[in-house]
This record gives sequence, structure tokens and C-alpha cells, in this order.
Amino acid sequence: MAADSSSWIIATHQAWKLYVAIAGFVGGMTLFSLALFSLISGGRRFVALVACGAFLSVVTFAWFVAVIRCPHCQAALVWKMILSRPHSSWLIDLAALDRCPSCDTLLAKPTSRTDPTTT
Ligand SMILES: [Zn+2]
Repeated sequence: MAADSSSWIIATHQAWKLYVAIAGFVGGMTLFSLALFSLISGGRRFVALVACGAFLSVVTFAWFVAVIRCPHCQAALVWKMILSRPHSSWLIDLAALDRCPSCDTLLAKPTSRTDPTTT
């Protein structure tokens, strides 16, 4: 089983943080959806559901920004990428980083390529 360390997030064992953040955002989106559906039944819980969805999304985003860090200099890389890249591609650029933009350390160890001789 060749471990896929194509992304530094996986190589530095921070993938679980990504999954927790995705779960948080999915939870936020679910609350927003429930808020819309609550309008059908009178909308009594609309404000509460929107508030909970917004709170969960903001907290998840803040946590995600705070926890994804360079293992060497502890720079908050999500925030760095948000500030330095276009909004449409910062997440892709973040996942594709090979060097830390702060300390220039190689993030993902160069994987010894598995021998493609057995085809
Ligand atoms: Zn660094």
C-alpha cells in the first residue's frame, strides 16, 4: 500500500483537520437548508437556524485558519494563502504547496517514487 503523500496536508498528518472543517461547513450548510425549509412551515425557527448556521460556519472557518500550520515555523498557512492568492484559487494553491511560504521549508518530503517497473 503506497501512502499517497501527494499533498503536504496528508504528509504532515493534518488531513483530519481538513475533514473536521468540511464536516463543520456541511453542518453549516445543513442548518441554512433547514432554515429555508422552516419557511415552508411558518418560519418560526428561521432566525435561530440561520444564526446557528452562521455561527458554526464562522467558528469552523476560524478554527480551520488557526490549526492548519507549517510543521516547521508554525505559520498559519490558510490565512497566508487567503491573503496572498486570488479568492478563487487559494484553497487549491494551499493543497498544492510544496514549500512553506513563510520559512521556505519543504513541506512534503520528496517521496521516493515507487518503482513503476512492475506493470
Ligand atoms: Zn514554515
